[in-house]
Amino acid sequence: MRRLRSVKIVATLGPASSTYEMIRGLHEAGADVFRLNMSHGSHDEIAERHAIIRQVEKDCDSTIGILADLQGPKLRVGVFANGEEELVEGASFRLDLADEEGTATRVTLPHSEIFAALEPGAHLLVNDGKIRLKVETCGADFADCTVITGGTISNRKGVNVPDVVLPLAALSDKDREDLEFVSELGVDWLALSFVQRAQDVIEARELCKGRAAILSKIEKPAGVKAFEEILEVSDGIMVARGDLGVELPVQNVPPIQKRLIRRCRSAAKPVIVATQMLESMIESPMPTRAEVSDVATAIYEGSDAIMLSAESAAGDYPIEAVTTMNNVAIEVESDPTYTEIIEASRTAKRQTVADGIVAAAREIAETTDIKAICCFTSSGTTALLTARERPRVPIIAMTSSVRTARRLALTWGTECVLTGELERFKQAVVNAARAARAGKYAEPTDQILVTAGVPFNTPGTTNILRVAPCDERLIYNTDPE
Ligand code: ATP
Ligand code: MG
Ligand code: MG
Repeated sequence: MRRLRSVKIVATLGPASSTYEMIRGLHEAGADVFRLNMSHGSHDEIAERHAIIRQVEKDCDSTIGILADLQGPKLRVGVFANGEEELVEGASFRLDLADEEGTATRVTLPHSEIFAALEPGAHLLVNDGKIRLKVETCGADFADCTVITGGTISNRKGVNVPDVVLPLAALSDKDREDLEFVSELGVDWLALSFVQRAQDVIEARELCKGRAAILSKIEKPAGVKAFEEILEVSDGIMVARGDLGVELPVQNVPPIQKRLIRRCRSAAKPVIVATQMLESMIESPMPTRAEVSDVATAIYEGSDAIMLSAESAAGDYPIEAVTTMNNVAIEVESDPTYTEIIEASRTAKRQTVADGIVAAAREIAETTDIKAICCFTSSGTTALLTARERPRVPIIAMTSSVRTARRLALTWGTECVLTGELERFKQAVVNAARAARAGKYAEPTDQILVTAGVPFNTPGTTNILRVAPCDERLIYNTDPE
């Protein structure tokens, strides 16, 4: 699916977006990656959505990334008999361990460790901090609270206890089961929630055994503190602003977002900005101006991807939300100020031959009328390095690995084309020219850039940069074998 923007769009699937028609509609409107949230929905539902995405991918002849988001050590309330209840300011509300559906006066919080750590006066924040409860009295299996800020509470809403340090393992038993399930299913990315140290990522990577790339969600003060070490061992990062803005003062989030985006770009690893980007579109077909500005800011900051959560999972206007993001992205990216900002914030380290080649490709694309950079990549690394340069022309990642192609669905400015196994460079150039023409990036009279490693099929050998014509006869006449 040809996009007219470089930033990628991630859409979370849920009850509002589980049919073939809706998922296809979201993809056609602009969603490049779908997020399956393991906190909601059974394994059967997850498997069904996964199958639908792969069907849409096939029918649209696209490459779609699938990201499974593990719940992590997140505290959540149980379910309500009525699905939801209204909590009014000043009312009393009890949290307990009873194995019963919730009512207007109580709900289960199935974590005994939290009751052991709670003290009167502590604040509990529900649903990304929208509802605030204060503990009045508590015991080993209950906490009686006063509603400080009211709102609607519904099934499995998250609970944060910023005042209290809780002894939580990085991966719960549920996470381990979910990890195995989605890895076998064949998702492309595994997102880890509440990562606090590099060891959390290493542990998940050992269990995942290369079946998916690993993305760390930064949403705890400890994760922010250990960010450099976490980035080192992760394949990608999510700025998970929902919990981050509850665990830390909310005004700390924007500077953290800026810093994390910059650091990820310089490490050539994709970064997603997530949560509340178009929150009002859960109920309204029109976003607020502030939300449009927030989406635009993430793009100006150079984020690889922007994400929809409840807007696409449980809202009334999933397609409109994706369309809004798509339109904002097209507008921002055509603004000369965007190009200035992106180019002024380049921080590449130029140490290896591959670094030099991608930098040269970007410079040639800046100064001549080259139509695309076609990079042959097996692991995806060369495409990631090329994307870090943020060139002004599209990046076409040519790969024989469908797994690599799907992972790159999250990477800024990169479109993937599947090739067969290639042995000769001339064949590669012909393939690249065909891909550029087929994608309507170039005409036969245009030129493209081709980067590759020879001999083929040896990872980490990018050593060729070729300015090539898009006319196959010219390639056959001029290129060496
Ligand atoms: P996380 O902390 O992982 O972001 P979340 O609870 O905030 O978890 P999101 O995926 O961000 O979940 O979606 C926001 C809201 O949309 C959820 O709180 C839930 O009410 C609703 N939702 C999302 N996915 C589903 C689903 N599969 N089934 C039911 N409700 C869902
Ligand atoms: Mg979260
Ligand atoms: Mg969320």
